[in-house]
Amino acid sequence: MNISDLNQYLYCPRRVYYIKYFDTIETNYYLVDGKLKHNNKSRKGGWIKELYVKSDQLGLHGKIDLLEIKNMLGSGYVPIERKRGFSYHANDEIQLAAYCMLLEDYLQEPINLGYIYLFGTNQRYAITITNWHREKVKEITKAICKMTIDSIPDFTDNPNKCKKCSVVQYCMPFETKMLEKK
Ligand code: SF4
Repeated sequence: MNISDLNQYLYCPRRVYYIKYFDTIETNYYLVDGKLKHNNKSRKGGWIKELYVKSDQLGLHGKIDLLEIKNMLGSGYVPIERKRGFSYHANDEIQLAAYCMLLEDYLQEPINLGYIYLFGTNQRYAITITNWHREKVKEITKAICKMTIDSIPDFTDNPNKCKKCSVVQYCMPFETKMLEKK
């Protein structure tokens, strides 16, 4: 399972359902904007760019945006997850935690710090990876694995999320609500 699925699940489990079973994900403005920003900002020394990591034990794989090499003495690697916008949320922290856990598995050393970089503020924020983050990663991984095609999750109760969601034309939350009223 790709780590980005964890973030998607926290955004809205129903979204993961569509991506998983209907292969419906399409590019929208928010995805294109995010990708362009990724491509423009990732050329600097002292960083490893786009490191692909996989863990059979965790059942996860993914590409770490940037890996900062703090020093040459070991335990000096800090993953950086870059996001568009002016703030980050719990789902972004969970995604970062999952990268730290993958990296731990890969390097066989503890990784308890990561950064979230926001293009909107041009700042990075240090996130200490706690047991809460780690448990959440495992819990959500399990929940996604348990999903079946005949158990579609509910709509999110936050319509603002739907406005930015790339599977909205398949999911049709607004249309369903209108029909339910009738
Ligand atoms: S459109 Fe809304 S309810 Fe449907 S998957 Fe996207 S966020 Fe979830």
